[in-house]
Amino acid sequence: MIAIVPIGEVPGDVLSFLQTNLSGFYARYRIEVRVIGSLSLNAFSHAFDMYRGQFLGRAFLPALSLVKRDFKALAVLGVVDVDLYEPGLNFIFGIAHPGFGAALISLYRLYPEFYGDPPDRKLLKERALKEAMHELGHVFGLEHCPNPKCVMHFSNSIIDTDMKSWMYCESCLRKLEERISRSHVRSGT
Ligand SMILES: [Zn+2]
Ligand SMILES: [Zn+2]
Repeated sequence: MIAIVPIGEVPGDVLSFLQTNLSGFYARYRIEVRVIGSLSLNAFSHAFDMYRGQFLGRAFLPALSLVKRDFKALAVLGVVDVDLYEPGLNFIFGIAHPGFGAALISLYRLYPEFYGDPPDRKLLKERALKEAMHELGHVFGLEHCPNPKCVMHFSNSIIDTDMKSWMYCESCLRKLEERISRSHVRSGT
């Protein structure tokens, strides 16, 4: 099972879009995707940098890893609607750590409004799905892919995100399959 865990206020329509589409994809590996529990943003006040007005992305991963353990999940995807950063970077769309089996994505910079464009819920959801597929790819050990259409291509800006598809290319898909079949064996599920 892959667990989607909203942290703080996260729009329900985006969560259910992610759940439906990730389920649709991971069904081929017989992996369920469920939205489970939720974490309070208050638990991460230590991660908030008041000068930057952003949360440190990596600070969420240990707590997500505990959720993974408690629910015996194969992977956990946290979703926040606040801005994230990592040291040396102005912002991040998301972060993942294979060792923790956990990933985190932020919707904050996926809203067309953020860039001065008119609101577009469909576009927001597509972007969120791409970030989710990308970070889950990292959780399963995939690296960045040179193919600009592949969802594992690195997004430096929202333009890169909009350029790529939400799917893994043939080569990343093969690697993913390999990694997932190995982790199934490890966890005995
Ligand atoms: Zn990446
Ligand atoms: Zn690829």
